[in-house]
Amino acid sequence: EENSPVLAVDKVDVRFGGIHALRGVSLNVREGEICGLIGPNGAGKTTLFNCITRLNTVTAGAIRLNGQALEPLPPRQIIRMGIARTFQNLGIYAGMTVLENVMLGAHHFSGGRFIDALLRPGRSRRIEQELKARCADVLADLGLGDVANVLAGSLPYATQKRIEIARALASRPALLLLDEPAGGLTHGEVAEFGDMVARVRETYGVTVLLIEHHMGLVMGLCDRVEVFHLGQNLASGKPEEVRANPAVINAYLGKS
Ligand code: ATP
Repeated sequence: EENSPVLAVDKVDVRFGGIHALRGVSLNVREGEICGLIGPNGAGKTTLFNCITRLNTVTAGAIRLNGQALEPLPPRQIIRMGIARTFQNLGIYAGMTVLENVMLGAHHFSGGRFIDALLRPGRSRRIEQELKARCADVLADLGLGDVANVLAGSLPYATQKRIEIARALASRPALLLLDEPAGGLTHGEVAEFGDMVARVRETYGVTVLLIEHHMGLVMGLCDRVEVFHLGQNLASGKPEEVRANPAVINAYLGKS
C-alpha cells in the first residue's frame, strides 16, 4: 500500500515574460521518500523549487503539501507549513558560530519567539534555552557537536554544507528541498554527504526532494528519480530504470 503524497505538483506552468520555464510538470513525493530531480541545465528544476517555496508564482497548475494548496500562501508561511530548503550557493553566515547558524533555522519554527528572546534575553530565557537544546541535538545528530561554538566560516566547505542541512532540519520540516548539495564536493565528500542524508531521513523521518547533477549520489541515495527536460517531465522511475532510459540518455546522461 502506498502512502499519500507529502508533495503533489500538478500540471504546473511557469512563464517569465516570453520564457516558458515549466510546461505542465507533475510530480508526487511520498512520505519518507528520497526523490531525485535531474535534467539538463535550464530544465526548470530550480524554478520548481522556487514555486514550492513561493519565491516564484505558478502561471497555472497547483502545488500541495499534505493536501493543502501552497499558491495562496506568502513565502514566510511556507516554512511554518513544514518545508525547508537549501540553495545552490552556500548560505552560511561565516561570522556566526555553527550553533548560531542553526538557531536561525529554528527561529522560523519558533514562530518568531527566538528573535524576541534575543531582543529581550531576560524575559525569554526559557525559549532561548529550549531552542539551544533543540539545535544542539540536531548538531549532535549530524556529527557537528564538537564544532558548535566555532565560527562557521573557519570550517571546511564540506562541513559548511553539513551545517546548512542542520539549519534546515532545525525547523523539523516535513519536506526538505536540497538544490545541488553535492556541487563543489570531492568524490569522498559526496559519499559521506549521501550517507548523512540517508541517516537524516531515518532519524527525522523527513521526506526529501533533491536536485542533483552528481549521478553517483542520485543512484546511491534516491528511491525514485524524476527527469525534467525543457520544462517538461521526460521520465520517472527507479534510479536504474531512469539511467537505462534511452530518452534520458539522449537528453541528459549521454552528454555528461
Ligand atoms: P540548472 O541545472 O542550471 O540549475 P534548472 O533546471 O534549475 O537548471 P532553472 O534555473 O529552473 O533551470 O531555469 C529554467 C529556465 O527559466 C531557464 O531558461 C532560465 O533562464 C529561466 N528562468 C529562471 N528564473 C527566471 C527568472 N526569474 N526570470 C526569467 N527567466 C528565468
